[in-house]
Amino acid sequence: MKTNLTGLTTESLEKLMVDIGEKPFRGRQLARWIYKKNCADFEKMTDISQPLRDKLAQLFTLNKLSEIESVRDDSGTRKTLWKLDDGESIESVLIPDESRLTLCLSTQVGCPLNCKFCATGKIGFKRNLTTGEIVNQYLQSPLGEAERITNIVFMGMGEPLLNFDNLLIALRILLDDNAIGFGAKKITVSTAGIPERIRNLADSGMKIGLAFSLNAATDELRNRLMPINRKYNLAENLEALKYYQSKIDRRITFEYILIRGVNDRIKDAANLVKLIKGIPCKINLIRYNPIDGRPFERPDEKDVIAFRDYLYPQTYAVTLRESKGTDITAACGQLKANYYNRR
Ligand code: SF4
Repeated sequence: MKTNLTGLTTESLEKLMVDIGEKPFRGRQLARWIYKKNCADFEKMTDISQPLRDKLAQLFTLNKLSEIESVRDDSGTRKTLWKLDDGESIESVLIPDESRLTLCLSTQVGCPLNCKFCATGKIGFKRNLTTGEIVNQYLQSPLGEAERITNIVFMGMGEPLLNFDNLLIALRILLDDNAIGFGAKKITVSTAGIPERIRNLADSGMKIGLAFSLNAATDELRNRLMPINRKYNLAENLEALKYYQSKIDRRITFEYILIRGVNDRIKDAANLVKLIKGIPCKINLIRYNPIDGRPFERPDEKDVIAFRDYLYPQTYAVTLRESKGTDITAACGQLKANYYNRR
């Protein structure tokens, strides 16, 4: 079996080159070809001698994802279903918004957390993604001419902090100037709340943004919507988030999906204000996208506006986001579910 190089950090590539009797700088050369120039063919790496190119092709591969299906809606949101080497599949989404183009990445095949409003949670957990599979979602994004990804969010399939080691390696590759070279300020990891891992991420020194998928401001409601809350409750998570903030010096984002009659009432907004009092943060409100087989509905527009207006200016900053791509099933896990249902 040949070793796949996509998903190795520059340091690992340097070490690998030394292991096969080459100079370490060859590893940096490889990182630039694989990540900066997005080249998956050793033969095209023209500043590497022909004998070394032959040797690399004999020993190593540069694996890619296979595209199963890609759909696009009127807003330009593009959702791609990728096939993995073992036949599993995952999704990534490109979301244009004014001058921004945000890429939403998956970190697991399925998800073990089974949030009750989520299509991915319904699929269940299959396995963690490798670093190569995470990074390839970026490298193979279906970009138009002159398009450039401006932001990356880890909000696709899976709980990123439960694939922590591979998440950290993928982040290193994204941040490394010799590899992809993305700005830390433009990367956000979203979590349903694993307090120990939130602290570990703070201690990693990578000053990336953190979004906490809140969705309910009391343990009683959150226990029902997000079973992980029974293991790690709101108080434990808020402590970890405050720690993150103290180390990173960036505002935490609270993601709150509004679901009709469940968490979109003024009393829910009042609980939310109380919960996050004193925490410098942003709140992202998102209208729920209904999913087959889940008993939840999209909120009424008047309730959404009333909820937002209750929060601001009592809280620091509130944005109301559309869950982009309603008509192309852009909520996480829905394209995959629909594709297999059709088959
Ligand atoms: S919302 Fe996120 S954490 Fe919850 S089941 Fe879906 S993918 Fe997993």
